[in-house]
Amino acid sequence: MADTSLNPYLRAQQAFKEAVDTLGVEPAAYEILKQPLRSFEVAVPFVRDDGSVQVFTGYRVQHNDALGPTKGGLRFHSDVNMDEVKALAMWMSVKCALLNLPYGGGKGGIACDVDQLSEREIERLSREYIRAVSLVIGPDKDIPAPDVSTNPQIMAWMVDEYSRIRGENTFGLITGKPLVIGGSAGRVAATGRGLVFATRQLATELGIDFSKSRIAVQGFGNVGSVAAEISHQLGATVVAVSDKDGGLYNPAGINIQDLLEYKRVNRNLQGYPHAEPIDNKELLELPVDILFPAALENQITSDNAHNIQARIVGEGANGPTTPEADRILFDKGVMVVPDVLGNSGGVTVSYFEWVQNQTRFYWSEEEINQRLESYMSRAMADMHTMHERFGVTLRKSAYLVATERIAQAMRIRGWLR
Ligand code: GLU
Repeated sequence: MADTSLNPYLRAQQAFKEAVDTLGVEPAAYEILKQPLRSFEVAVPFVRDDGSVQVFTGYRVQHNDALGPTKGGLRFHSDVNMDEVKALAMWMSVKCALLNLPYGGGKGGIACDVDQLSEREIERLSREYIRAVSLVIGPDKDIPAPDVSTNPQIMAWMVDEYSRIRGENTFGLITGKPLVIGGSAGRVAATGRGLVFATRQLATELGIDFSKSRIAVQGFGNVGSVAAEISHQLGATVVAVSDKDGGLYNPAGINIQDLLEYKRVNRNLQGYPHAEPIDNKELLELPVDILFPAALENQITSDNAHNIQARIVGEGANGPTTPEADRILFDKGVMVVPDVLGNSGGVTVSYFEWVQNQTRFYWSEEEINQRLESYMSRAMADMHTMHERFGVTLRKSAYLVATERIAQAMRIRGWLR
């Protein structure tokens, strides 16, 4: 049967509906949460290197700001569309509330293929995007950050453009910046680090020794490569990794340090001599203890969930598992670290970055990593409390924690009466 849950926006709505019903909070909470408060679609014209003008479509969505200004990344990818951005913004609301950050959820992006653009073109496109949305973002309004195919350099151009428009340095506008202009120690590795932290914690609870586990990682970007590197450092055997062009497999384990060096020189994973090529689909179905899907949404669906052999799926990507696949994994006894917890290390350290920008006082990497662990441990404990109270999956438990907090804020602000 075809998977009916591939549209992430419908999925996000359904998840809020279930949470509101389970908690028994006011139905008005769902009426407000089921769509973003504000959704912007903008034309982004920019000059190509040959002097011609091209226009891409940009998006920025602010889902809910009951708990504070909206927060969430900017994605540059050809599949970016309004429904996807809305879903990603809703997932940010859940993530921020679960982690007890004083933020609502936001998200944005540009439908484009960065591989077709030069560095100069990416800079001009990034600056034009900020011009297009400058009125609706701001350090106390809506704070962007990196996501798929965006990075600290792009954040630097964006904060520079915004600062020029405002006529003052506004580092608190955006997080994930380079260190020298108000970035935070530990931000680049935060998502991968948090993913390993949460997954290792769950493994220990299940009696699995993380340092002896066999791991496959889908996606070798900012999340997957760091998760693979830290897992390798902790003694785990990373048997497979992949990027969008395909993967590598070595049942005896891949030396991630060596592979990172290979990638730095060759710019991609393909051709690495100490592993066999494997495709992304095969990687997901390998006999491993832990699987980290750290690429894009809809990777584990009703088509392949039956074939997953991992005992734990640690979601580094946003939305990699569809609800139907979730049910299949649950029935098979596979535990899932849900995305809203698994990849929350990124936005948590983004919050620390923003606090440092607002106070102009900067913390050490050690302090950052310590605080990250304490925020994530607290979120895990809150999620487990809901898990015990309602007997639902960890994902549903995470939604219950988040929805209760957002509903409480909306109630006290007078939105629900
Ligand atoms: N894009 C990341 C996410 O999906 C980070 C967002 C942020 O730091 O604001 O969580």
